[in-house]
Amino acid sequence: MEGAVAGLCVTCVHARRVESARGSVFWLCARSAEDPRFPRYPRLPVLRCPGFEPLPEPERG
Ligand code: SF4
Repeated sequence: MEGAVAGLCVTCVHARRVESARGSVFWLCARSAEDPRFPRYPRLPVLRCPGFEPLPEPERG
């Protein structure tokens, strides 16, 4: 369900899941710290991204 909303970030090694006090979920793109092409909080869903790198299988979910 969440994957459908956030797209690629959910399974990307560079994404950090951030939950606000009110329960909203954001995905912070760690690549944004080094590369201005990537927004800190990407507009979701991210369907295509040149920086996407998949998490190893066991870390998913
Ligand atoms: S590199 Fe792309 S897919 Fe990965 S977290 Fe950043 S915006 Fe999302």
